[in-house]
Amino acid sequence: MHKINKSTRKRLRFAIAVVTLIVFFLGYRLIRVQIIEGAEYKRGAMQQWTKAIELKSDRGIIYDRKGRKLAVNVTSFTVWASPSDVDNPEEAAMKLQPILKIDSSEILENLRKDSSVVKLKQWITREEAEMVRELGIGGISIVDDNKRYYPFGSFASYVIGFTDIDNNGLYGIERVYDQYLTGVPGVWVKATDRDNRQLPYGSEKIYNPENGTSVVLTIDETIQGFAEEAAEEALAKNQAKSVSIIVMEPKTGEVLAMVNKPDYDPNNPRRSLDEETNDQWQSLPFEEQQQKWYEMWRNYAINDIYEPGSTFKIVTAAAALEEASADLDTHYYCDGFIRDIPGVVLRCSSWYDPHEDQDFSTAFSNSCNVAFVNMARDLGTEKMFEYIKAFGFGEVTGIDLLGEQRGIIPSGTESIREVNLATLSYGHGIAVTPIQMINAISVVGNGGNLMTPHIVKGLADDEGNVVEIFEPEVRRQVISETTANELLDMLELTVLEGTGRKAYVPGYRIGGKTGTAQKIIEGRYVDGKYISSFGGLAPVDDPQVAVLVIVDEPTGIYYGGTVAGPPAASVIESTLTYLEVPREYTDEELEATQETVIVPDVRNTSINGAGREISDLGLKYTTEYEDFNTDTLVLDQYPSPGVEVTKGSIIDLYLEDGTNNPVLSDEDINNSN
Ligand SMILES: [Zn+2]
Repeated sequence: MHKINKSTRKRLRFAIAVVTLIVFFLGYRLIRVQIIEGAEYKRGAMQQWTKAIELKSDRGIIYDRKGRKLAVNVTSFTVWASPSDVDNPEEAAMKLQPILKIDSSEILENLRKDSSVVKLKQWITREEAEMVRELGIGGISIVDDNKRYYPFGSFASYVIGFTDIDNNGLYGIERVYDQYLTGVPGVWVKATDRDNRQLPYGSEKIYNPENGTSVVLTIDETIQGFAEEAAEEALAKNQAKSVSIIVMEPKTGEVLAMVNKPDYDPNNPRRSLDEETNDQWQSLPFEEQQQKWYEMWRNYAINDIYEPGSTFKIVTAAAALEEASADLDTHYYCDGFIRDIPGVVLRCSSWYDPHEDQDFSTAFSNSCNVAFVNMARDLGTEKMFEYIKAFGFGEVTGIDLLGEQRGIIPSGTESIREVNLATLSYGHGIAVTPIQMINAISVVGNGGNLMTPHIVKGLADDEGNVVEIFEPEVRRQVISETTANELLDMLELTVLEGTGRKAYVPGYRIGGKTGTAQKIIEGRYVDGKYISSFGGLAPVDDPQVAVLVIVDEPTGIYYGGTVAGPPAASVIESTLTYLEVPREYTDEELEATQETVIVPDVRNTSINGAGREISDLGLKYTTEYEDFNTDTLVLDQYPSPGVEVTKGSIIDLYLEDGTNNPVLSDEDINNSN
């Protein structure tokens, strides 16, 4: 964090010193005048006769990286009173009541206070201010004030945050960069005698406020828009509890978009955007209401942890290749299960149709658990643990947002038993934050370097000119460029042929890895509650973006590829188009876009035969469930039979429920895809 600069601090100190001196001087003169003139000295006279009203500084603007305003100030007015100057408080309260719309008793109470100035009402409109002025009540002043306003409502609310009524930053960037944004308040000092007559010497002084410094985010409003839309859609489509999307520039660690849905409107942060929820909250005691607000304001992307599942296989593969405990020619054999750990049987997601013999890249794109368990065994506990830490898990990333979690990793190698090493290899038994995960994925897109992610690009002056830039910061090199490039190829293969097919976009080379993990609530795996994710990079020959999509508790289908793949693909496609990354079609893709195929009717046939028929026509298919056997029936399909589609299109197959599958023991829940 950068501190307020020295000259600002000096100026602030000077302003305070000047005001203090004036107050003392006036006080001294008053006392002297009173003593010389023989008037009665009254305690507190000094306080009553020297009135200082704070003049708010304009809070700095929050810009996106292209200079678009995401948080601004709107002019507003605040009504102040000097109680001792108001001749007839009862009458004043009566006249002010209809304009200020507060109880006249409350106004009266304020007007009778034994203090030099009191705030009667903050943030009234220009019209209301004019009406108060027209009343011409002595002792009532109107001061220009400003109010924070977020022109796009809930847009990027978890990044921007919000302020309190006095413009102090409470959450998000408003809080973290508050000392820059705030500026230095000014003071309006008025000195009057007891009859409210101006005193003849230096009776009024205004010290103008110094406006706050503006902040330029790394967020791109357009890319944020793509992510917001994709998250909203994924939330509705999967009837999920929440959806988070982060888009990062892998080479700089700059966050281009950060979204959590559902979200809130920082213009009205204590209300849910869902009216039904507001009704429920209303009946709650205040403390519980407050608890609900805190939950609503949590930035899932950095404040919460989840079990990553198979996206974590990137770390295992990276470590194995970097340490040369395996190479691209290493083969792994999958018979569906790991049975040699005493008391535990672990299974591959494709246990019903084992992967059998696979080379390293194929095992990666198949996301074969059996292969990864053996990969981790060859690597060894020490090295596995070393790379978990090297990729930044178990420590904060250092992003410039508050409340970042460290996640949970084993405390040391001694606590990693045989079964732990096995499940760690495919991302179980570990908890990470979304920001840690996308930062680790970015290592692969950044020649092996781990960056410190950040969300503020620099500072700007009153006119929006950038005055300071925060440079990207390499934290450490985790893997070599060679290893990183090998992983990029494998991530691409995963999207082309493996579990990440739903993130495929013709013309763009996308690499990615899916993840599905059962949720852990209070230390136990919960049946039927999943976190589905997809982490990707594109284009793989020169990664411009890393994208992570996390869908928390999808209803129905929960496989990472199916649930989180499509929103990731949509964000990547829109972003690369916006960044003017040219599409390069492969010969196969060109051919496919020209050639069309009539969708065959595969309903009421076995998945085995249906799959072959579809593949033979140059089409691809996905299934709702992966727990099926070769005889499982296809109940329905989309698109319907007879529809003309381009070659390479994906046909969704809806299978009969796989409840006839053999029942597995509790230990077998460690499945993933
Ligand atoms: Zn397998």
